[in-house]
Amino acid sequence: MQFTELPTPCYVVDKTLMEKNLKTLKGVADLTGARILLAQKAFSMYVLYPLIGRFLGGATASGLYEARLCAEEMVQPAAAAGIKLENHIFSPAYQETDFAKILQYCDHIVFNSWKQVEKFGPRAKAAGKSIGLRINPECSTQEGHAIYDPCAPGSRLGVTKDNFSRIFETGSGGRLLSMLDGLHFHTLCEQDSDDLERTLSAVEEKFGQYLPHMKWINFGGGHHITRADYCLPRLERCVRRMQQHYGLTVYLEPGEAVALNAGFLITTVLETLHNGIDIAVLDTSAACHMPDVLEMPYRPPLQNSGQPGEKAYTYRLGGPTCLAGDVIGDYSFDQPLSEGDRLVFEDMAIYSMVKNNTFNGMPLPAIALREKDGECRIIKQFGYADFRERLS
Ligand SMILES: *Cc1c(COP(=O)(O)O)cnc(C)c1O
Repeated sequence: MQFTELPTPCYVVDKTLMEKNLKTLKGVADLTGARILLAQKAFSMYVLYPLIGRFLGGATASGLYEARLCAEEMVQPAAAAGIKLENHIFSPAYQETDFAKILQYCDHIVFNSWKQVEKFGPRAKAAGKSIGLRINPECSTQEGHAIYDPCAPGSRLGVTKDNFSRIFETGSGGRLLSMLDGLHFHTLCEQDSDDLERTLSAVEEKFGQYLPHMKWINFGGGHHITRADYCLPRLERCVRRMQQHYGLTVYLEPGEAVALNAGFLITTVLETLHNGIDIAVLDTSAACHMPDVLEMPYRPPLQNSGQPGEKAYTYRLGGPTCLAGDVIGDYSFDQPLSEGDRLVFEDMAIYSMVKNNTFNGMPLPAIALREKDGECRIIKQFGYADFRERLS
């Protein structure tokens, strides 16, 4: 099937573009010896896990379900081909009822507090797992996106320096510290390696004394490694600094960077109207199919369009839901839009499929793959049952 023949709305992930990202990431891993994992919460289109597993060292999960998906769709198929991939997990708090399964699926388990280490750590160590503690270097490097800043005051994510050292006032400090194999931090969001470098300095200043006791350090995600202007040499220096000063294995777990600019959301214009401005109603919804447009918020790139007023015809593009704010943005075009026109939003592989919902009874977009020869294949289509099943 051709791209232009796909039904709408439809997410399309392009294999050539995915491989381009994966090659860049593998290049960093090959050059430095860092291990790079897919953060599944950004992208879990598991039909591509065998491809991803050929380039990356494995994946990381935010909970039991993602851990199982990695085990079944990435680690096991790779193992059958003789390749050992890693399955990591981090959660702010693990559930007792999940933990036995987590031990079954995961190799690395990262905890968010000393209390969690105390509660689950001995079982994880007895099962031969590598365990880590997430630290909070209290070094905010991002402006604007407060909800994406785990270093903001009052954050529940990661152990601050004070909370880290407080454990040594109790009798258990030495025992708990000796259980740890690594430290983990995740503080970046769509950032370059200058912010990583600053963060690493904060990590060394606040936690440097503990690093010689560790086997690994995990730099988390938020590294925009596959963006054209990302500074790779500085990332490589950051990795080497941890390897050379402390003898640590370095992990990176990008989500965005793995599938950045590798997917599309195709939509059709259902109706045009005018209320002071020209408006087009699409068969896709910001609220349901690209929620980060409203949450982040951001303006997704749209093919053959310009900023408002840049081209002759400007439209406000909105979804077919009841939500007044279900607006994707204002875009301009060379020709007026009309019913049946197809529009192609770009950079729609990440934080899209994993976050969508059926608010208003909206259908879920189909999921398709564009092969290297341009041929498109529908991987999955959804219907009424997918809406109904989740509601009672
Ligand atoms: C979100 C997250 C990631 C991935 O972040 P990206 O911004 O998608 O690269 C990695 N690790 C942890 C702990 C996260 O919460």
